[in-house]
Order: sequence, then structure tokens, then C-alpha cells
Amino acid sequence: MAFEPYRNEPFTDFADPAALGAYRAALESVQPRLGREWPLVIGGERVTTGRTFDSLDPCDPSVVVGRAAMAGAAELDRAFDAAETAYRSWSTWSAEARSRALVRLAAVMRRRKLELCAWETLEAGKNFREADADVAEAIDFVEYYAREALILDAPLRTYHWPGEENLTRLQPMGVGLVIPPWNFLLAILVGTVAAPVAVGNTVIVKPSPSTPVIAGLFMELVEEAGIPAGVINLVTGADAEIGDALVDDPRTRFVNFTGSVATGLRIHERAAKVHPGQRFVKRTMLEMGGKDALIVDETADLELAADAAVASAFSFNGQKCSALSRLIVVDAVADTLVAMIGERAERLTVGAATDNADVTAVINERQFDKILGYLADAPEQGQVVLGGGRADGAGDGYFIAPTIVDRVDPAARIAREEIFGPVLAVLRARDFDHAIELFNDSDFGLTGGIVSASRERIEHARRECQVGNFYVNRKITGALVGVQPFGGFKRSGTNSKAGGPDYLRLFVEAKTVTERF
Ligand code: NAD
Repeated sequence: MAFEPYRNEPFTDFADPAALGAYRAALESVQPRLGREWPLVIGGERVTTGRTFDSLDPCDPSVVVGRAAMAGAAELDRAFDAAETAYRSWSTWSAEARSRALVRLAAVMRRRKLELCAWETLEAGKNFREADADVAEAIDFVEYYAREALILDAPLRTYHWPGEENLTRLQPMGVGLVIPPWNFLLAILVGTVAAPVAVGNTVIVKPSPSTPVIAGLFMELVEEAGIPAGVINLVTGADAEIGDALVDDPRTRFVNFTGSVATGLRIHERAAKVHPGQRFVKRTMLEMGGKDALIVDETADLELAADAAVASAFSFNGQKCSALSRLIVVDAVADTLVAMIGERAERLTVGAATDNADVTAVINERQFDKILGYLADAPEQGQVVLGGGRADGAGDGYFIAPTIVDRVDPAARIAREEIFGPVLAVLRARDFDHAIELFNDSDFGLTGGIVSASRERIEHARRECQVGNFYVNRKITGALVGVQPFGGFKRSGTNSKAGGPDYLRLFVEAKTVTERF
């Protein structure tokens, strides 16, 4: 391989005043583009429809970050046509040529990294560190899949048969649909697009209506990088109008989805139905929610445990699929640990992402109301020791105070349902075995971890804890592309393991050719 070896994009050190200054300058520099209209991009053409919807800054919803075009049936039709046309050519490119185009895309993204970060801060309320990590992850996905695609280009290992040549190779499948969530607005969008494209498919990407601007900006970079028109098509719009239509369309070969369980299962069910004119069985990759837990036992380093819990529960306001929402602590150390976590959480600043606060606004009004609904019930389900409602004085955005609810009944809603906000439920366990039992008593199985000094217990937990990503003596968020392949068990999804060596296999099919001589 002629590319330089894969390595993760380094994170920016914001303790450096120069880095902080550069970030603030980037925020300033994008101001003139606030509120502009972002078109659909179909077959390389910018398409407007005469209808738009607004993307708002969650920290100050009076600011319109951008207006995105609303697609309707005619635009969807056009997008399928463009993707099918581009497929005929892109699928015949050599793996090297496709990977080269992606490595070029990563280079373009790297050059415009600060600009991408600034838009993330404005559109999703990510503070500097979170935006920087998200953009770095997006770049990692492109670089990583560009290299993995070359490995998949080799024939599969099969045995010989006398008098014949037998060759099994992987080939792309066709036109896929990519449906990402808003929380990793660039990283997941880019990762779930780059993978199928790297192995020769073409895609229609439909971002979350909460974050269409970053998707529009990404399409500018796709064009700048010279990815051929129609390989990646962008449609934005209302889920109620275009969501089912895209999934149901007989031309959709596969759906690469990341989001909530409810939407994922709906897509799974609809994609199973074969529509007139459809000549294949649709494939769905579904990465969904979590109710992620951290076990802390009485042998644990409690300083480490408290730091890990606060970072996992409250970074990006708990709006990560991997976020800690169930702290399972052994009774003997529970009072001490809860107090330590409370002290740390109390010191977190709550405010605007543009001011680089630790905890910022949650994504939109719907999510804000949903979280407040859970918090209204919290006093009956446990003991609220911190927060418990909106964050007063933080501003007019959707600010929720970091919240800790102790002694939560394991059967309570806040112990079982994904809230997706800065809300930590503490479940007290009698002992280590009880802690493991509580850990696995969930429909979800995405991330989790343990803080313990006992080798024996760590080994037991490594074996028994039913999650796709398990962390020992550290925080449970922040999986790195190529290092920690990511994806859950149980109702958290189909375990596709994004950023891992098996991921690209999901977007190809194998063809065996036998020739007798
Ligand atoms: P969501 O389910 O509301 O939306 C996800 C995507 O589906 C969005 O693009 C949305 O517009 C689209 N959508 C909604 N209805 C649709 C329909 N009927 N047909 C087609 N598409 C439709 O989720 P969200 O609020 O955007 O994201 C948060 C969720 O994502 C959380 O549950 C979180 O745990 C999960 N998530 C999972 C992972 C993972 O890797 N497992 C990563 C990030 C987020």
C-alpha cells in the first residue's frame, strides 16, 4: 500500500491559548454564513425546492444556523437516478482509485478542520473539545476505510479443486441509504457514508433534520475533493415526508442506520417488505441506543471512578449513545463515591457552546421537554442529589442542569429507558455479584465498564458483562476508529462494529467464479 500508515487524528490541546484563540477566530469567521440556504446535492447539482426548514443553535434558538432545502418525492426520485447512474461507473473503479479519492477527501477535511468544528459548535452545541473530537473521528473514518477497502480487494482464501480455477471476490451491492443521527453530526454521517462508498457503492444520505448544515458543508468538501458526482447524494427534509419513502423505495439496496431503537426497528421492519420492482432482499445495518452502565466495587480507586463517571455521564450533556446513565456502585463505597461525583459535577460550567462551557444545551426543544419529563418523575424513583431540572441562568437555550439521582429503583424508568441527557441514575448493589446482575438487566447492550482493583473481578466482568464495548478502569465513551471497533449487543443494534476490520464486509457481496479448463 502506498498510503502512509493509518494513525488516529490527534486531538487539539485547548490548554494552549493559541488553540483557543484559533477556535474563537473560526467561530467569528463563519458568522457571515449564518442563516444561508443549504441545497440538496443530487448528481453533483445543487437543488433547491422552494421549501426550507430551519436549523437552530440549541444554545440560542433565536439564531438560525442555516435553512435547509426540503426534499419531496420528485427529489427522491432524482436522487435514486443519480446514484444508480454514478454506480455504473464508481463500482468499476479500482479499489486503489476509490481509496485515493477518499484519502484526498480526508486531506480536504483536515485543511478545513477548524471551520467544521465551528459549525458543529453552532449547530449542535458541541463545546470545543467535543467538536474537535467529532471532526477528528470523521477524518479517521475516511482514512481508515480507504485502507481497509484495499485489503478487501484481495480474493477470499479458498481451496483448490483439480482442473479448475476457483475465485471468490467481494463486490459492491448498489445504491444504499445512509441515515445518521444528530449527535455525532459529522463523524457518524461521514463514517456511515465513507464505508459503503469505499467499496464501490453509491449512496443517498439523509441527515437528521436537527443538523442539516454540517451535511451541506460536507458536500462542499466532497465536491472539492473530486469525488465523482452522484456517488454521494444529499437529501434533507422532514422525516414524516421522506423517511419511509426512502426506506420503502425498491431501489434501496441497503440501509445504514444509526439512531434510536424506535426508528431503527421501524426501518428494519419496513425494509423487510419486498416492493414491486424490487429484485433483492434489502440489508439493514442498525446501530441504536444504550443505557450504559459503570460498575464500581469496594476495591476501586474512587478518584479514578469519580473522574470516569463524570466524564462519561456529562460530556456532551450525556447525548452520546455510549454515555453513562447507570452508575452501579457497591453499597460499601456508595456514599463516598456519590459525594465525590456530586462535587465534581457541581463544578462543571453550564452555558453556551461558543463560550466552551462543560455542559451546553441539549439538541432541541423536543429533547429538552422529553428530558424534563423524566426529571419530573425522578423524585419518586430515587433521591435527587444534584440538579433535577432546567439550568437556571445559563441562557435561553435548552439547558438542563447536570443531574444525579441516587438510590434509584432498578425497575424505575430512569434506570431502564434511554434519556439522552445529563442525567445519571445511581443503582446501589449489595455486592459485586449483584452489580453484575444489575448491569446485565437491560434491553440494551452498547457500552459499559468497571472500575475495580480486583484482577479476579475484572476478568469475571470482562467475560460476563453483555455489551459490545466494555472498558476497564477508564471512562466508557470515546471509542477510537481502528482501535476500538464500535457497536452493541441486544437491542442496541446489529453489532456492525464501525471503525473495525469487519465493517466494510457489510457493504459487499461475494461472487464465486469457477472455470474448468
Ligand atoms: P432518531 O432515531 O430520532 O433519528 C435517527 C435518524 O433517523 C435521523 O436521521 C432521523 O431523521 C431519521 N429518521 C427518523 N424517522 C425516520 C423514518 N421514519 N424513516 C427514516 N429515517 C428516519 O435518533 P436521533 O435522536 O437522531 O439520535 C439519537 C439516538 O441515536 C440515540 O438513541 C443514540 O443512542 C443513538 N445513537 C447510536 C449510536 C450507535 O453507534 N449505536 C451512535 C450515535 C447515536
